[in-house]
Amino acid sequence: MNIILLGPPGIGKGTIAKMISAKYRLPHISTGDLFRENIAKKTKLGDEAKKYMDAGKLVPDNLVIDMLADRLEKTDCKNGFILDGFPRTILQAKALDKIAKIDVVINFEASEKTTIKRLGGRRTCSKCGHIYHLENMPPKKDGICDKCGGRLYLRDDDKPEVIKQRLKTYNELTAPLIAYYSGKGLLKEINAEKTPKEIFEDVVGVLKQ
Ligand code: AMP
Repeated sequence: MNIILLGPPGIGKGTIAKMISAKYRLPHISTGDLFRENIAKKTKLGDEAKKYMDAGKLVPDNLVIDMLADRLEKTDCKNGFILDGFPRTILQAKALDKIAKIDVVINFEASEKTTIKRLGGRRTCSKCGHIYHLENMPPKKDGICDKCGGRLYLRDDDKPEVIKQRLKTYNELTAPLIAYYSGKGLLKEINAEKTPKEIFEDVVGVLKQ
């Protein structure tokens, strides 16, 4: 099963992707995480991507597509994968069409107010990348990851000044993918105003079909 998770930043794609990954034993491929790994390792790709990420803009298509194509060649993708944060432009979607057959695109829908609240309250583990939310999914101990004891941090691009630009980028460049995949008959809509558990149950219902 080759799955794409679509929707605005902060809507909960990463959280749900991890839950699908655990249930169906499919790799969760987040292009944002791949860039953050490159930044942490101080690679050339990481240096280049950081400039765009810090500004709430998209990393140029060619860099993302090459990185994703390399990742999809790994053996763990042979039975399927979950894409989170890719594609983000029509050009990326067309490039993906050439390298993989997509089975379903799940589009997470919520109001802009919900999206902004989720992004601002999101906290990420600096060690294992697990995602928390100060109100909806707080850690047991303030600022500490339940899973690995790592320190939780507010991503630079989850700060208010960058959030505005990321939503603008989403509306201009990524939202057109909804019509693109709807036209291919692949789109399934999910109401993301609910709790993670409820959203996950709805997603499982869609995947069972
Ligand atoms: P995310 O973790 O998915 O919110 O991604 C964080 C940032 O990484 C985005 O705001 C972009 O700057 C960059 N990024 C991640 N995926 C892509 C992509 N498919 N195309 C372009 N930029 C991306």
